[in-house]
Amino acid sequence: MATLKNSNAHAPATEVVHLGRDPQRFDGFVNTPVVRGSTVLSPTYDDLVRGHGRYSYGRQGNPTVEGLEQALQGLEGSDGVVLTPSGLSACSLGLLSVLGAGDHLLMVDSVYRPTRNVCNTVLARMGIETTYYDPLIDEGITALIRDNTRAIFLEAPGSQSFEMPDVPAIAAIARARGITTLIDNTWATPLFFQPHKVGVDISIHAGTKYIGGHADLNLGTISAVGPAWGKVKATHRTLGITVSPDDAALGARGLRTLAVRLAHHQQAGLEMARWLAQRPEVSRILHPALPDDPGHAIWKRDFSGASGLFSIILKPVPEKAVAAFFDALKLFGMGYSWGGFESLAIPFNCNEYRTATTWNAEGPAVRLHIGLEDIDDLKADLDNAFRQMQTHT
Ligand SMILES: *Cc1c(COP(=O)(O)O)cnc(C)c1O
Repeated sequence: MATLKNSNAHAPATEVVHLGRDPQRFDGFVNTPVVRGSTVLSPTYDDLVRGHGRYSYGRQGNPTVEGLEQALQGLEGSDGVVLTPSGLSACSLGLLSVLGAGDHLLMVDSVYRPTRNVCNTVLARMGIETTYYDPLIDEGITALIRDNTRAIFLEAPGSQSFEMPDVPAIAAIARARGITTLIDNTWATPLFFQPHKVGVDISIHAGTKYIGGHADLNLGTISAVGPAWGKVKATHRTLGITVSPDDAALGARGLRTLAVRLAHHQQAGLEMARWLAQRPEVSRILHPALPDDPGHAIWKRDFSGASGLFSIILKPVPEKAVAAFFDALKLFGMGYSWGGFESLAIPFNCNEYRTATTWNAEGPAVRLHIGLEDIDDLKADLDNAFRQMQTHT
């Protein structure tokens, strides 16, 4: 790409607009076209057998896919990025790139639940053993490292529960021992946390969430540095993982507005979290950007912002009251995923799957995504839902 590739010379809001685009290459059109294609024709025999062309085959390189990969590479400050068809496939491909039979993996207990399932099924079948660790273990992780530990997987903050692990401390311990680190960085996006800058080898995103930003796309991204990049690139190519150019174009389209959307999600999320903290129905807020959150100091040290996803713990109420709360919501949708323009709410219970830590919630837990709607309308929707809840207590 002609301009701004890997520049890091501009503020992130500028980079998301300009990275990975080369209008003059496409007759001046601002966006990289959606190039659909498998076969790429060579002009001469010599070009064909010596592989002189910029592209050789659709699966192995496509201008639309490449444009998004290069934009993300610039934002992450890495040696390269590959795209995958979903966030979960990015997590599994990242793991498969660096682990083999007989290896040991340390996996954070607060990881996105389907990533756990990859470890407990496919990796286990391949002879890769997983030990789950407490997200707040910090330097204590040293005691869990074995001779065959090849990778440590992090997620910050934890899915649903929002604990903040000390990523730089764990990355430093791993690097000193030649252990590869991977992080699921979906919550922060590349704008609010750059894992490679604190020594993490592989940075993974569900592009499905804020990068896509419109609840109309499943996409995964894997960024890597050093020897890990060679492994990710080779495994991605060997397994034949591809993303459609249409999906890559949707990812790029979302990326262009990521900075302004995130600024709003952050501000609205914090305002809503503070409002909820005053509600008599709410016991606690799990949001690392709030000063009294246990993970706040680490968040403040390592992250430059917070997105619009957080959880609340309600004071104890019967399940029928929780059901009344959810069924009364009109603007908040009930559904999985997040990071789109719309507000969402789901109930959750970490005790269903955790193994290394116990989840001591004093009441029902609710995860909220604060979307781009008017904040007062969203408060009114929650206020009404709380009133309905109270009629069932
Ligand atoms: C949603 C999510 C994923 C998975 O993304 P999909 O595109 O749904 O596969 C992975 N990690 C985190 C933290 C997520 O929230």
